[in-house]
Amino acid sequence: MREIITLQCGGCKRRNYSSTRNKKTQTEKLETKKFCPYCRKHTPHKEAK
Ligand SMILES: [Zn+2]
Repeated sequence: MREIITLQCGGCKRRNYSSTRNKKTQTEKLETKKFCPYCRKHTPHKEAK
């Protein structure tokens, strides 16, 4: 029941991270703060479509 998702930087829109989510426990869109090497700072990363 796991789905592989891609985390996209909110600043430069680059896809820096990939993660998995459990459809059963997580129904809303994932958003997390991660370090973006392109922005060279922590930015909110959202799940890419
Ligand atoms: Zn970025």
